Amino acid sequence: MVLYPTLVLDKTYLPVSIFSHKKAFLLELLSKCEVLEHYRTVSLHSPSRDYPAPLVIRIPVLIRHWESSPTRRAIFIRDNFTCAYCGKTVKDSEATIDHILPKSRGGKWQWENLVTCCSDCNQKKGNRTPKEAGMELFFKPKKPSNFQISLNRWRSRFNEEFLGALSLYGIRNVEAI
Ligand SMILES: [Zn+2]
Repeated sequence: MVLYPTLVLDKTYLPVSIFSHKKAFLLELLSKCEVLEHYRTVSLHSPSRDYPAPLVIRIPVLIRHWESSPTRRAIFIRDNFTCAYCGKTVKDSEATIDHILPKSRGGKWQWENLVTCCSDCNQKKGNRTPKEAGMELFFKPKKPSNFQISLNRWRSRFNEEFLGALSLYGIRNVEAI
């Protein structure tokens, strides 16, 4: 079953997440959300009729942002599975986490000190800072919003209608996020 993205807004109409159209439809059935836009090209089928899939929904809550420490997977998704040192795309099974300031030197497990790293770069850097190793970071790691994580998770499934909905709610340059 193909899953399509549904944009999720919070109470204040701020984009906070992306759900699958199926999950969004379930929330609609349970009256747990307000559907603001429907897909024109995607529908859900039941034996008796078809329902247009939700494209944008609003949930009546305020969403809190990441406060806890990140998981390995959240770091990979934030970095789009890209090695922070050589820029190579790494597979899930080959991705490693690098502490920019090594753990042995007091480097912490936090968003700002962790990056996705390929095994070659991780080995090359070893127990050194990027400067000591003569390596440069492709990007400065930051704490992402929940929404940035959702965007990266769903990026490969974006379609024209969804991009239109993003733009309608203020996200015009998705590539830059
Ligand atoms: Zn690398």
